[in-house]
Parts: sequence; structure tokens; C-alpha cells
Amino acid sequence: MLSVSAAIDKLITTATATSRVEKVSVLGSLGRILATDIIASVDVPPADNSAMDGYAFCYAEALKNNFQLPLSQRIPAGTAPQPLTPSTIARIFTGAEMPADADTVAMQENCTEQEGIVTIGNAVTATANVRCRGQDILTGQTILTAGTELRAQEMGLLSSIGVKTVEVFKPLKVAIFSTGDELVEPGECLQPGQIYNSNRATLTGLIESLGMVVIDLGTVPDSLAATETVLLKAAAEGDIIFSAGGVSVGDEDYVKDAVAKLGDLDFWKVAIKPGKPLAFGQVAGTPFVGLPGNPASVFVTFMILARPFILASQGLAKVLPQPLKAIAEFEKTGEKREVYLRARLTDTGVDIYPNQSSGVLSSACWGEVFVKQQVGQSIELGDLVDVIPYSL
Ligand code: AMP
Ligand code: MG
Repeated sequence: MLSVSAAIDKLITTATATSRVEKVSVLGSLGRILATDIIASVDVPPADNSAMDGYAFCYAEALKNNFQLPLSQRIPAGTAPQPLTPSTIARIFTGAEMPADADTVAMQENCTEQEGIVTIGNAVTATANVRCRGQDILTGQTILTAGTELRAQEMGLLSSIGVKTVEVFKPLKVAIFSTGDELVEPGECLQPGQIYNSNRATLTGLIESLGMVVIDLGTVPDSLAATETVLLKAAAEGDIIFSAGGVSVGDEDYVKDAVAKLGDLDFWKVAIKPGKPLAFGQVAGTPFVGLPGNPASVFVTFMILARPFILASQGLAKVLPQPLKAIAEFEKTGEKREVYLRARLTDTGVDIYPNQSSGVLSSACWGEVFVKQQVGQSIELGDLVDVIPYSL
């Protein structure tokens, strides 16, 4: 059986990043992934400016003049100042550009102004209250690299260097289908022997939450012919194919046979719980991932194994969440596989959902992190355990 980390490595190294890019406005780029490095062509801020409402002066001149100087100009934000006349002081406001030859700003609260003469009160240090040109970004600096997800702060950073549009990767189209004769869709009446299809919705949400496009090919009955038909359609329409169910070794599991017939199949027994069977391969050149059918297994195997693969395929640089450590507030005996327990952080540690069955999807909803229980690791109250957040 393949270890989870070996499976993740194999998946990430197999992923080929998309090369399809498009230009979008920075304002419409939330959640998109940069396709190019971004190099600044300006300094931010573009000039020294005042961090305070107050008075700008040359410290050495002020020292010579006993901290009393005549007022020579007024500089509100948004205006271009004149060079400071020697031995004078300028009224200045927050964000206004410093006049040439001034190096210090005194807060207005510490100054008095009488008949055009400003007295600088409390001791002020040289160069105080000045924000230097380029203190945030220097011309020529790479501010963001290809593969970065654009969040609000990156959108702001791009705007701060005057960039209006950026090249980002086009969202991948992910074709999904569920398998199983027992499945009916929500909204329909449940007959004896049937259950509602939940994996379709779970997969849709998981993929859309990554900013990708779902091509929903619905539910396929347990038959080889129907599975082949849907796989060919998925390969034609999607950049990646995901199926749920039908990948075990039962008589009614047709996914592996169909993939092997139409393309290549690597069938992996990954030492993960819940999960274990994971089919990976290609159909007509389109990468294929076959997830198990149990609803909590779908969630876990997608988050732990499939998500890094599709994020790497999408061109994202960071594809794995940052692991944490927390104190176990539960006990759990060791198992033969690596277990991903659906868990929640508390004020003092981490606790797990009481029923960790692969059919219990409530565990995934209750949780916000996984506790990673290593192969054979028995967890006692108070142990420091590995925690993997759901979010990247
Ligand atoms: P399978 O891998 O097809 O043998 O499915 C394993 C278990 O997951 C069975 O109990 C199935 O009924 C259940 N299952 C499979 N697909 C779905 C689905 N789309 N929604 C809910 N349960 C499912
Ligand atoms: Mg099935």
C-alpha cells in the first residue's frame, strides 16, 4: 500500500500546470492565480511624504534656530511642494509630499503657530514622521510571483504599483460523475433500496470553492457500457475527470475496467482512512481521478489527495495547507492506515467528531481541521498531535 505522503508526491509531480491564461482586471481578480511574475515599475510611495498632520522642516536648520522657524508654504496632500526655503518651515498634512530639503515632520499637537512663526515644542527626533520613498516597494522589485493566489491584499498591492490588469490562469474545467444504481437525486422520491446522491453536491462545492468550473455529468448506472460512455464525454469536455464510487473490487464496480480500456489506469491502494482505493490515470489523454463512494471518504480523499493535484494542475504554487500541532482532547487507538479524523479546534486543543465512519458526512460538516493520526500511532489525552486545516 502506498503511503499518503508518497501518493501526494506522486500526484503533485504528475500534475501538468495549465498554460491557458487570460487577462482580467485587478478588481475582478479575487481568487485567481497569477500566470506571470509582477515587477514594479514605480517606487511605493513614489516620494517621501508626511506620516502626520504637522510641520515639515530641516532638522539641522531648526537646531540652529532654536526650533523657531517662519512659515513659508502650505502643502496639502495631492499638491507638488516647492523646495523648502532655507531656515523656514512648511505646514504639511498626512500623505503630502515632503518638500525638497526638509527631512523631519513635527506633529501639529506639538507645535504652536503665532504671527507666521512656528515653535516646535516637545523634542522631536531628526527624520521623525517621514515615510520614505520606496519604503514599501522599489522599482524593479518582483512583488508577486506566478502561481500566487490573488487575495484582497494582493489586489491592493497590484493597484499600488498602478497595475490595472493581470494575466491569470483560466479556471480548469473539471468533469464529475457519480456511480451507483442505488442513487437518486435530491427532490426525487426515495424508493426501497435507494439513497440520495450526496457526492455530486460535495464534489461540486469542493471544486467550485477552488475557483474551477464543474462539468456535471450526473449519475451513471453500474454498467461497463454506461461508464465508458460517460468517461469519453468527460474526457472530451473536461481538463480533469473525477468520479465517485465504483472503484473498489466489487462485481458492480466498473470504473477501473472502463478507464483501463479507454486509457491508462494506476490503481492505488493508499494507506489512508477513510478512503483506501484511489484510481488514477488518464482517459483519452485527460487525467482521471477515481474517488471512493462513501461520502466522508470522498471529502477526505479529495481534500488530502485530489486537491493538491488539481491545484498544481491549475498552476497554484501553494497546494498543501500548513500543518499545525494541537493538544489531543480525545483518545484513539492506532490503526494500520494513516487516519484523517474530522476534528475541531477548541480554546485549549483539538477534539474529534465522535463517529468517524466513512459514511458519516456530518463529521466533515462539524469539523474544520483534520487530525492526522500516523500509522500505528495511538493517541492519549494530552498528546501533541498533527493537525491539517481544511483551508489552504
Ligand atoms: P462504492 O464505492 O460504489 O461501493 O460505494 C461505497 C458506498 O458509498 C456505498 O454505500 C454507496 O451506496 C455509497 N455511495 C456511493 N456513491 C454515493 C453518492 N454519490 N452519494 C451517496 N452515497 C454514495
Ligand atoms: Mg457503487
